[in-house]
Parts: sequence; C-alpha cells; structure tokens
Amino acid sequence: MVVSKPLPAGARELLEEAAGYLPPDRVEQVERALEFAVEKHEGQTRRSGEPYVIHPIAVARLCAELHMDAPTLAAALLHDTIEDCGVTSDQLRSKFGPDVTLLVEGATKIEQMPDRTMDVEQADAETLRKMFLAMAEDVRVVIVKMADRLHNMRTLEHLGTGRQQALARETMDIYAPLASRLGVWQFKWELEDLAFRYLEPEMYHRVASMVASRRSERERYIRALEGELAEILAAAGIKAEVTSRVKHLKSIAEKMQRYADQGRSFDQMRDLLALRVFVDTIADCYNVLGVVHQH
Ligand code: MN
Repeated sequence: MVVSKPLPAGARELLEEAAGYLPPDRVEQVERALEFAVEKHEGQTRRSGEPYVIHPIAVARLCAELHMDAPTLAAALLHDTIEDCGVTSDQLRSKFGPDVTLLVEGATKIEQMPDRTMDVEQADAETLRKMFLAMAEDVRVVIVKMADRLHNMRTLEHLGTGRQQALARETMDIYAPLASRLGVWQFKWELEDLAFRYLEPEMYHRVASMVASRRSERERYIRALEGELAEILAAAGIKAEVTSRVKHLKSIAEKMQRYADQGRSFDQMRDLLALRVFVDTIADCYNVLGVVHQH
C-alpha cells in the first residue's frame, strides 16, 4: 500500500489479523478500504482528540476478531464515510462494489444515536425495528453496528453525562440482548459490563471491588483446579483443553441481588469462577461429564 504518512493506530494490527484468516486478494480489499477511510476522515477528530479514523479501524478489528469476511471488514472501515464525510453510495459502489456498499448503507440507516425528542421506550422500539430490518437484509450490517457500539462504549468517558446514559441504556436494552441472540458472546459480555458501569456506577464499583479483593485467592484456586482437571482427563485418556474464566461483572451483580433478596451474602456465592473444557467429539463431551461427576 502506498501511504505517504505513517499508518494510524491499529491499522497494522488490523491488516495482520485479516491476513491471518483471509486470502491475499481479500486482504487487498481491506487495505483499499483502509486507505480510503484514512483519506476521507483526514483532519477529523474524535471527542478524545484522537484522529477520527482510529474509530473505524477499531470497529474493523472487532469484526476481524470474529473472523468476518472481507466485505464486512471493508464496510466497518467505511461505516461513517457516508454520514460524516459526504461520500456517496455511487462513489463507494464504483470503488468497492455493490456488496460493500449495501453494508455501509445498511449501517448508515441505523442511526448512531436515538432521537432525543423520543422517550426511552419509543427510541428503543425504533432502534430495534431498524435492527431487525437490517438483520433480515444482511446480518453483517448488525455485526458492524454492534462492533461500532462496542467501541463507542469503550470510549464513552469522553461524552457528556446525558449522552452516556442514553447510549448505555440503549446498549443494555438492545445491543447486548441482540449480541446474545446472535451468539456473539465476546460482544455481549463487554457491552453489558460497560453499560452496567454507566447505568449503575455505584453498584458497578461495589461489585468490581468485591471481586478484586478476593481475586488473587480465587485465581490461585481456579488455577489449581484447572491443572487437576487436566491431569484427571489425561489419565482417563480424553483429549481435552481446559480453560478457566471469571464471571463477568454484570452477571455477578445480578446474582448478588438474588442472594440479597434471599438474605444470603456474597461469601456464599460459589460460582464466580468457571472451568471450560473443550473436546473434539460429542462422545468426549459426555465422557468429561462422567469423569467430573466421579470426582
Ligand atoms: Mn461509528
């Protein structure tokens, strides 16, 4: 690629990630979209003061994490060019073809922000309606919009309180459940935790500090369990990969609430941790279950 200036943050990583699973001619399409986005967003900045193009690049990287196809990555890079740069559909079509153009148009139609003259229910219903229409047309549009929202939520500290609340509410009501329905768990967990942080800051910080205060203890424990289970499975001749995870904050908060309603305390909460076992076959899945129950 011939770019006279150094590449913006994340651009190199995006191309490397795309090259990790796409053939060279497809990566080339992503490169062209990158170049175009850099050129069109030239001189624009985000609220944080960073160059604007950092945002579409971050959105494209989120799509690359999901191994989306090249037109989706290109559309992610171009998703704000119609709205913010005055680029026309015809220009996009002649440069990137009809597929990418339809995706960018679709993403543009779902407005970034709810209309502030509407109340919350009206705005939610309207966004949801647009999301379903987009999904029916091409689910890749919804993936781009979810990635767009996730990056905006990650950088929400730069907006005013009113906007923060509106975006966080819409994220919790619409984007997170949609991500969950589509099975995009990486997005769902992070969207929920970020929205939770702005909607219920006190509760969020309380849960975060409770979780943090016992983190090292819990981490030692889960790591020991992880090793033990891996040994047991190996001894049983099952080929498996064992990983552990710590529950995300929103689900811990919900659970704390349920416990409080029942008069129980955080100390009694047992499943802040989870082990995950990956196996190759369904039969092995049941074998693992049997082995775990024996122990
Ligand atoms: Mn955007």
